[in-house]
Amino acid sequence: MKDQLTQLLALQNRDLALDKCQVEIDQIQDQLQDHKDILQKLIDDLGEQKNQLQETVELKAKRAEELREAEERHGKSKERLMSVSSAKEYNALEKEMEQLKRKTEETREQLDHLKERTTHHESEIAKKEVMINELREQIEQTEADATKKLTDLNGQLENAQSEREKMSRGIQKPILRRYDFIRTRRGGTAIVSAKDGHCEGCFMRLPPQMYIELQRGNTLITCPSCQRILYHAAALGIDEA
Ligand SMILES: [Zn+2]
Repeated sequence: MKDQLTQLLALQNRDLALDKCQVEIDQIQDQLQDHKDILQKLIDDLGEQKNQLQETVELKAKRAEELREAEERHGKSKERLMSVSSAKEYNALEKEMEQLKRKTEETREQLDHLKERTTHHESEIAKKEVMINELREQIEQTEADATKKLTDLNGQLENAQSEREKMSRGIQKPILRRYDFIRTRRGGTAIVSAKDGHCEGCFMRLPPQMYIELQRGNTLITCPSCQRILYHAAALGIDEA
């Protein structure tokens, strides 16, 4: 049993290194995805802003045409004013001109506002385009670095896995199954040391008889509280500093 426990411990060290490798790979991939999401959001925003600019430009053209028409009508009314024969007609024409003047002023104001909006959209678009280009470059750089690192990590992972297979050959199947099962439930550690009468995994005090047996190292003992496989360092000849 001592030999089995020693092999399990070595396997666990291998597995923990493997887990760390996997976490690193996941982190890199998550980070890349985050960057891509941000870029996509910026691109969507830019599209939206361009649509708004397009709408503003169209509206501006429409208002400019309206202004031109109103000014033209105003000009014509002014000409007609010279040739009216009755006071009634004169008053009606004057009223119409007053309305046209108001309409012209209103449209001019709207046009000014639309010009401001156009400038605003244009400067926002320019800013976003710069940001997108910068981010894109940054992502390309990160991606290049990450790809290199991922290749390296995946290589390590592959080596570790074949090494793991070799290491687990000497361990009895039921013990290995138990180890794998506990590992999935206990965040990667399935075998822990028992020290000064308690489990180092969950720090529960162990029954004294159990602790004595552990020190002998002849049977497979699991912690009654956390179910991890227990070992006693001295029993396995490990010098625990
Ligand atoms: Zn425990």
